[in-house]
Amino acid sequence: MAHDIDSLDSIGVVGAGTMGSGIAQVAAVAGYDVVMRDIEQEYVDKGFETIEGSLNKLVERDSLSAEEAEAAQDRVSGTTELADLADVDLVIEAAVENLEIKQDIFADLDELVNDDAILATNTSTLSITTIASATERQDAVVGIHFMNPVPIMKGVEIVVGERTADEVVQLAHDFSEDLGKETWESDDKPGFVTNRILMPWINEGVRAFDEGVAIKADIDSGMKLGTNVPMGPLELADHIGLDICLHATETLHEELGDRYKPAYLLKRKVEAGDLGKKTGRGFYEYD
Ligand code: NAD
Repeated sequence: MAHDIDSLDSIGVVGAGTMGSGIAQVAAVAGYDVVMRDIEQEYVDKGFETIEGSLNKLVERDSLSAEEAEAAQDRVSGTTELADLADVDLVIEAAVENLEIKQDIFADLDELVNDDAILATNTSTLSITTIASATERQDAVVGIHFMNPVPIMKGVEIVVGERTADEVVQLAHDFSEDLGKETWESDDKPGFVTNRILMPWINEGVRAFDEGVAIKADIDSGMKLGTNVPMGPLELADHIGLDICLHATETLHEELGDRYKPAYLLKRKVEAGDLGKKTGRGFYEYD
């Protein structure tokens, strides 16, 4: 079967966390049937709560009617069984940022799904080619890198692995656009376009704070007012999750050398469990 947008009806999402629940939501709003899988029922339930909360906000803002929100919710089913993804046309993996876990998931999916199904990963920094090497269908593996929060952020980065087929790359663009997103393409190089440039910016913000250049609010204000970005580096780090920032920076450091060495304070915060908004405390405190 040809890999084109008309052949896509059902989507599998692996991981029901921040990104997985957001991806499931936007796919369901666009009319796709979605099966969302996590390892424990409590994580699946949390994913549904996130989707409900986010859809309610969109209804309050008149971005969606109550009927559309309800219909979208009904299109998402949750499971803890990977086997329930056997018949989907496209899987988007959004599990934790760990190469071994992602390769295991891709090897299992490769055995499970139909021969013509496409396997995508939402990885922030890991190599698409390395993840794809765990499968027998490297041509059908692609990066579809959504931005956080998925229902709000317009951009999607399409990452092309060493062996990703052109029609699969095209389908990744078409699918993302069908969800109302705008895309750009990156080669499978460390950090792709976005994180290769964003993470050193955040890391330098953490260093500037740790080295006493300014208080944290002034570091954020300086970058917001001075360069017209919506969030400063410390606020944005809290929003993304300090563990994710550290992991991405470590990957870049490993691949690209010393200019990407993670800031000392970033490591210390992650060790302390202060991961940002999601734990209630990062550089700032949250209720
Ligand atoms: P998260 O921790 O919120 O969610 C990850 C989920 O995956 C958890 O619910 C966990 O239980 C689940 N999981 C772990 N192993 C699994 C498995 N074997 N099968 C199914 N589910 C499993 O993480 P997140 O922020 O949603 O990040 C997910 C992916 O998206 C990562 O690869 C991350 O790098 C990428 N990403 C994150 C952001 C961001 O800003 N948070 C942005 C872009 C991309």
